Amino acid sequence: MPKTRPVSVVTGGAGFLGSHLCDALLARGHRVVCLDNLLTGTVENIEHLAGSESFQFIKHDVTQYIYVPGRVDFIFHFASPASPADYLQYPIQTLKVGALGTHKALGLARAKNARFILASTSEVYGDPQVHPQPESYWGNVNPIGPRGVYDEAKRFAEAMTMAYHRYHGLDTRIVRIFNTYGPRMRSNDGRVVPTFIVQALKGRPLTVYGDGTQTRSFCYVSDLVSGIISLAESSYHDPINLGNPQELSILQFAETISKLCGRPDLPIEHRPLPVDDPKVRQPDISLAREILGWAPQVSLENGLADTIEYFRKLVASGRV
Ligand code: UDP
Repeated sequence: MPKTRPVSVVTGGAGFLGSHLCDALLARGHRVVCLDNLLTGTVENIEHLAGSESFQFIKHDVTQYIYVPGRVDFIFHFASPASPADYLQYPIQTLKVGALGTHKALGLARAKNARFILASTSEVYGDPQVHPQPESYWGNVNPIGPRGVYDEAKRFAEAMTMAYHRYHGLDTRIVRIFNTYGPRMRSNDGRVVPTFIVQALKGRPLTVYGDGTQTRSFCYVSDLVSGIISLAESSYHDPINLGNPQELSILQFAETISKLCGRPDLPIEHRPLPVDDPKVRQPDISLAREILGWAPQVSLENGLADTIEYFRKLVASGRV
């Protein structure tokens, strides 16, 4: 760690995870340079940081050459559309930011001799045939399916990161992020958490894709961010899973949300299951426990209560 204030660059810093990461780094005393082209990120996520002398926002597409003056100690590469609806809408941009954007961000890390932290994903495991998923599992990904644009871009990004580590000796980290939720998710990003919450708050039926027996495991954003910072401060180079192992079927999740929103009566409306939608997902976090001493602390009920509060305000103000 440098003796002076660390300088961190966060690509995708105006996104859901990126903006929470900016907050946490600032709270740890870092100076933060946030890069975002605002394709799926929003200035609302970082507007509370405007005017802070420790924070700088540069509107930039990181698939283009990245210029950041001065010293940089950490680069957190978090730029990418990250919800299935977003990467279906922006398939080429998703591939480009995972491939070209990762290359540019790695190039910046090399030029600055900075530590590089890649936001990877549980999607590298595809529709998994091993359950729960340990880091040693190589995955079951359809390269040409609609989700392939995200999955393969992130798999390429991991390969590129390891190549820079091995060939250039770059100091790198790879975090495989499982489903994460919390305030600042976009109400219309299509993901199950904001979708169900907004539907329940408006008293509408909950749209369950398929029969709802597919499973996910949801991690609250503050837990995830603390794991990312522990990883950045560790010396571990291989990929590491971060997520909450508490697994629920989507039907159980729908019931939980309607109850917590005070609308246990809402009907379920089944819609077709999206192509290649993983049937199960649950992180094996043994490595994170062992290497980082990390485990999620926030219960689903508490995390959802905060998230529901956030969306309740948006709905009440008519912005959603
Ligand atoms: N899903 C659903 N209804 C919705 C949105 C999503 O049943 O309105 C399902 C989706 O098919 C998937 C799970 O919820 O099985 C999680 O979807 P999400 O888009 O949040 O993320 P994923 O884990 O698939 O990347």
